[in-house]
Amino acid sequence: MSTDVLVVGAGPTGLLLAGDLARAGIDVTVLERRAPGISNLTRAFGVHARTLEELDARGMADALVATGSPIGALRLFGHAQVSLEHLPTRFPYVLMTPQYQTEKLLQAYAEKNGVQFEHDAAVTALTQDADGVTARCADGREFRARYLVGTDGVHSAVREALGLPFPGESVVASIMLADVRLAEPLPDGVLAVNATDAGFAMVVSFGDGWFRVMCWSRDGQRADDVPVDLDELRATVRAVHGTDFGLHDPRWLSRFHSDERQVPQYRVGRVFLAGDAAHVHSPAGGQGMNTGLQDAANLGWKLATAVHGRLPAARTEELLDSYQAERHPVGEQVLKSSGNLVRLAMASSAPRRAARAVLATVIGRIAPLRGKFSGAVSGVGIAYAAPAGSHPLAGKRAADYPLDDGRLYEALRTGAFVLIGATAPGVTCAAWAPGFEAPAPAVLVRPDGYIAAAGTPAEVLAALPAWTA
Ligand SMILES: Cc1cc2nc3c(=O)[nH]c(=O)nc-3n(C[C@H](O)[C@H](O)[C@H](O)COP(=O)(O)OP(=O)(O)OC[C@H]3O[C@@H](n4cnc5c(N)ncnc54)[C@H](O)[C@@H]3O)c2cc1C
Repeated sequence: MSTDVLVVGAGPTGLLLAGDLARAGIDVTVLERRAPGISNLTRAFGVHARTLEELDARGMADALVATGSPIGALRLFGHAQVSLEHLPTRFPYVLMTPQYQTEKLLQAYAEKNGVQFEHDAAVTALTQDADGVTARCADGREFRARYLVGTDGVHSAVREALGLPFPGESVVASIMLADVRLAEPLPDGVLAVNATDAGFAMVVSFGDGWFRVMCWSRDGQRADDVPVDLDELRATVRAVHGTDFGLHDPRWLSRFHSDERQVPQYRVGRVFLAGDAAHVHSPAGGQGMNTGLQDAANLGWKLATAVHGRLPAARTEELLDSYQAERHPVGEQVLKSSGNLVRLAMASSAPRRAARAVLATVIGRIAPLRGKFSGAVSGVGIAYAAPAGSHPLAGKRAADYPLDDGRLYEALRTGAFVLIGATAPGVTCAAWAPGFEAPAPAVLVRPDGYIAAAGTPAEVLAALPAWTA
């Protein structure tokens, strides 16, 4: 074996996964097609609350928040919006910051924990057997490991080498992207986004004087290889926002189409898929990178447990299979919700447009609907299925509980399970903060911030060997 785990692709998903594995003492090598110093293309700007909580559990959230601007509401159609301010989290907003800021932090996290990077390493083929996986690169180099994770994006070579289908369809064609300067300020300095009968347009600040424009015109459907014309971009933004903000001097213009696809299997033997390699959907709702990062947070500790051989073989297999069981339904849900948003934004018939207007008002004003929508988009509402008969908290997201010497997401920074209200070796033990009305006398929290078991201390201690021996 050249290493314990190979991670193919150093995008946000691969960087977080590799960093988590290395933090757990696993040997990890990242194989990246790009040459050293060439950065990934920034596409994502919105970092949602649940992702910020996962970064908080690794001590990175405050540094990322310092790079961007918090936006306290999700803007929908015709200026309707859904407030995020009631979300039960330290981060009741969506943080607008360019993807390269997130990747910079994740790169530093991976390097600090000792991840090895191989650049100019485009994986083209894989073979696996009972003991491990061998990856072959375009230049003939071969790497072998006990497990391999494909985080190599939407055109994943790993997914292809596994022979897996990527079923779905194209949802929006002819979306224009551009990086420009503005002559006029945005109304709030950071973000302008709206969808109208003319199309949709988002203008967001990089924070350094450049702005990203993403827009779509109902009247301007062109093939991906038709160059974007500055006047076409201006006219689309103007038709949606009433102004083009004096956009000028583009440094980059591009046109793309957006697909909605999900791989049916996230695991084939010793090989896993995560991030865009497993699921892709329209940018509506800004959830792609967020979902990939949460895939990584879910898989990292499970793979680390398997490599360390901490659990009996059958339970290890069950834990590795739980990655598919937990994350595939989340991916499916994200495809559905972002698909609904983009189809409503593009609605052309009068009844659909009327439905859009009603929906936007209703979601924004009726508290349970608003809560469900914002919980889904922010990720704060995500929960995993637990076995029948489990405590009602099992599988739920753990809130940032106050502890007698801090708070839960600080205690999670060791990368280990956190046991609150009882003590046992091999886990981080904590006590509830005095006066806090605990949801159960004892709670066992997984390294990804979801509840493994809850109940009396004796019940939780009895559950411990199934998770961490
Ligand atoms: C216009 C637009 C706007 C978006 N806005 C948002 C947003 O606001 N919020 C959000 O959460 N998401 C957003 N997304 C989605 C987000 O950008 C992606 O989901 C995210 O980048 C996926 O991360 P990843 O690490 O899974 O894959 P990628 O970022 O695609 O990284 C894959 C990596 O693998 C490498 N690679 C590829 N093939 C190979 C190979 N064969 N061998 C080795 N390495 C390889 C690549 O060089 C790359 O470094 C947006 C997407 C688009 C198109």
